[in-house]
Amino acid sequence: MIVIGGGLAGLAAGVALADSGWRVKLFELRPYLGGRATSYVLPSGEHVDNCQHVTLGCCTNLDDFYRRVGSANKVKFFDRLFFLDPQGRSGAMQAGILPAPFHMTGSFATFAPLSLGDKLSIARAMMRILFSAGKPKEVATPEGISMLDWLKCQKQTPRAIERFWRVVLVSALDEELDRTDARFGIDVFWKAFLSNHTGYRMGVPAVPLAELYDGCRIAIEKKGGEVTLRAPVRGIRVENGAITGIQLDNSHEESADAYVCALPHTALDNLLPPELKSANPMLASLEKIKVSPITGVHFWFDRSITSEPFITLLDTTVQWVFNKTALYHSDDLSSRGLGSPEESALSSGGQNKAHPNGQYLQLVISASYDLLKKSREEIIDLCLKEIRQALPAAREAQLVKATVIKEASATFSPEPGVDRFRPVQTTNTPGLFLAGDWTATGWPATMEGAVRSGYLAAEAVLCSAGSAAKFLQPDLAPTGLSKLFSLR
Ligand SMILES: Cc1cc2nc3c(=O)[nH]c(=O)nc-3n(C[C@H](O)[C@H](O)[C@H](O)COP(=O)(O)OP(=O)(O)OC[C@H]3O[C@@H](n4cnc5c(N)ncnc54)[C@H](O)[C@@H]3O)c2cc1C
Repeated sequence: MIVIGGGLAGLAAGVALADSGWRVKLFELRPYLGGRATSYVLPSGEHVDNCQHVTLGCCTNLDDFYRRVGSANKVKFFDRLFFLDPQGRSGAMQAGILPAPFHMTGSFATFAPLSLGDKLSIARAMMRILFSAGKPKEVATPEGISMLDWLKCQKQTPRAIERFWRVVLVSALDEELDRTDARFGIDVFWKAFLSNHTGYRMGVPAVPLAELYDGCRIAIEKKGGEVTLRAPVRGIRVENGAITGIQLDNSHEESADAYVCALPHTALDNLLPPELKSANPMLASLEKIKVSPITGVHFWFDRSITSEPFITLLDTTVQWVFNKTALYHSDDLSSRGLGSPEESALSSGGQNKAHPNGQYLQLVISASYDLLKKSREEIIDLCLKEIRQALPAAREAQLVKATVIKEASATFSPEPGVDRFRPVQTTNTPGLFLAGDWTATGWPATMEGAVRSGYLAAEAVLCSAGSAAKFLQPDLAPTGLSKLFSLR
């Protein structure tokens, strides 16, 4: 069994198949596992995440995967989401004692950044989601409708759209509301906020991302398999419509009974030979799946400016602020740094040795189209201004160092109707299977979507070999009164 690509999709497929007794050979282009959700080691031996990644309580397959590879205890879950606007008004969302779907009602009712009118309009749209158990019929068309159009149909106030729907969905789906299929947006609210009282809990890795995958290699090797890094697959050999092998560097070839291609859709498009595209019409239209950007900004201050582990900012370019110093603050992490050679003044937890009480913040801006054109200096100036406005302690603090990472193709764009172009994990070519967040999972581009695709590909491989296994985990079961709505 060959898996091409060591991102979450390839790892989930490889580990699930190894757990079923298959000998898996996994080939990854880069020197580390995890794909887009990874961290890397700098020449100085320090670890840096490529970008902050978070999960939610409703991501049942990612949770299963972390458990499978022994990493579940490396993710910290938080019950409270904290919001702050430029005027200094704050609000927190947290489950109270009421059963689902009313568990957030208490914190929502006292949420200062929204007016009563905004809240009533949001409650109306939430009722529409609730009464349809997350599947209102008006969004179930192949072409889809945009989230913005759906919100306008639900008569949402401009401030409710800007300060509530946009805030949650642009970060969750990495796209603006007018370019997001309403089906994805509604699903986020049903699964994370309405159906189950724990679905919204936010999980933040407490270790550099690559450490979450240590158990994958072990699981694969235990069954006689191999994980090969720095191993770009250069070609797929096809004879008489069947795959006969893959081509690696130095004229090296490998063959297997089955192949799972777990590459980003753009990379797969470049790798596929024409005969495979013509045998699989769905693979001929991969270029119709567009991409959207995420920008990460890293700030190291000479002092602590917030005690919150993370903050959602309202009405600003910066959407999320993660307090990496606090998130990494545990004995287990005390030996790790977060700097580069030129950042050698930084000690463990991202603090600067010259400023032992300093703080490392990572800012995240999803759907950051406007920032792609801006220079690094412009982005730093803009974000620093916003941070200083939102967090008064930052006004006196000195910015010791800053870094900007623009990911132009961070995720596929969940634009209306995109599901028409997402192929399932089985193909018309015997032995060829697909995995990747962009394949048909029903989920947007997330770690959960990637793991689901890997599990589905592994199930398909076993099915084609005449055996059956179930890896895909069910969604969180509705709790409280939401059970009644899910039965309708
Ligand atoms: C900046 C950023 C922030 C994000 N934040 C979040 C978040 O907070 N929460 C969340 O759930 N999701 C987030 N995502 C999305 C998440 O990272 C992806 O959905 C998920 O990691 C995709 O996994 P994948 O395995 O499908 O693809 P990938 O991770 O892209 O894996 C594909 C792998 O294939 C390898 N490869 C490519 N070509 C070849 C070749 N020729 N031969 C061998 N190997 C090859 C690549 O190196 C890569 O390792 C974020 C993504 C980005 C970029």
